[in-house]
Amino acid sequence: MPAFNQRIAKALATRKQQGLSRCLRSIDGGNQAQLLFNDSLFTNFSSNDYLGLASDKELSLAWQRGIELYGNGSGASPLVTGFSPAHQNLESALCDWLGYPRAVLFNSGFSANQAMLFSLLEKGDLLLQDKLNHASLMEAGALSPATMKRFLHNDPQSLSKLLTEEALVVTEGVFSMDGDLAPLADLHALCEGQAWLAVDDAHGIGVLGEQGRGSCSHAKVRPDLLVVTFGKAFGLSGAAILCSEEVGNYLTQFARHHVYSTAMPPSQAYALMHAVGMIQRQEWRREKLSELQQCYAEQFSHFPGYTETITPIKPLLVGESEIALSLAEHVKQQGHWLTAIRPPTVPKNTARIRITLTANHTTKQVRALAESLNQAMEKLS
Ligand SMILES: *Cc1c(COP(=O)(O)O)cnc(C)c1O
Repeated sequence: MPAFNQRIAKALATRKQQGLSRCLRSIDGGNQAQLLFNDSLFTNFSSNDYLGLASDKELSLAWQRGIELYGNGSGASPLVTGFSPAHQNLESALCDWLGYPRAVLFNSGFSANQAMLFSLLEKGDLLLQDKLNHASLMEAGALSPATMKRFLHNDPQSLSKLLTEEALVVTEGVFSMDGDLAPLADLHALCEGQAWLAVDDAHGIGVLGEQGRGSCSHAKVRPDLLVVTFGKAFGLSGAAILCSEEVGNYLTQFARHHVYSTAMPPSQAYALMHAVGMIQRQEWRREKLSELQQCYAEQFSHFPGYTETITPIKPLLVGESEIALSLAEHVKQQGHWLTAIRPPTVPKNTARIRITLTANHTTKQVRALAESLNQAMEKLS
């Protein structure tokens, strides 16, 4: 009798006991400023669609045009017959925009991170990761043949104590739970000449820097490897690793998530290329975000736990999980959808409300959220 049934039942029961059970909810409009759930309308402060492209009509039309030009699926993995002119044009557009000789496409950021760490690292290598790096990086690091160590969050001094030759240093550009920026200039200077620096800019690309080139452009550094993902500001999905010609050739040979996985639909690559153009040209989206962020600062800076960020990720640190949950519940009843983030996703006693802004929000919606949170806090105190 296989042990699976018992094991699974036990794991589920433990999860439930800990109050950590999660459930899938079918949400209509999760990619828009307003969403519909159980027949109620909510302002959506939870998505990562920072530039409002996930429901943008111009981008939908580009995807439709891509289907007319290229049909449906890609039909094969990239090295077989799945790599089309649409994929090639997307790679070129990314290279021109971000200033790298090569871009290698993946179906998700999760697989790009795995591919990067699995293919580059060997036994005996040292992998140094910021303590708060995304789960995809941590998991890939733990499964890679290298020795993984973690340095204190955004702490170049902590990194310098661990740094040796043959090390790969990995950080996010913008941290997803705190919305803070990595000290990229310092990290880059430390690595120079002795280690490689890889930056996962899932939350910075499109939002920061000139023409939305991201955290690295903002900090005026060019890491050895840059991971960009298309599920956030691009409003679509997929990812790319930007790198040198030689590393690009290497990944094309050895990155198994690239080699053995069906290439993304060419229509999607076509839409993504269009999204690159929109991100570059449509400065108004970033201007709108900064207007909303200014409104957020005015409305929220008096809240306990307010944290200033220059990104659309706005954490309100409340400490106790129960408080975070009741605040989220209260504002939800008033029609605002946001997420309470609790341990183990974040460190103990740092439960928070995570608010994300998108270019599709209005300042009125931000003010309404502040008002509702005010009420919720008064009620709790
Ligand atoms: C979202 C995210 C990923 C995963 O990207 P997907 O395309 O959603 O798989 C990787 N790294 C970071 C930092 C992320 O926030």
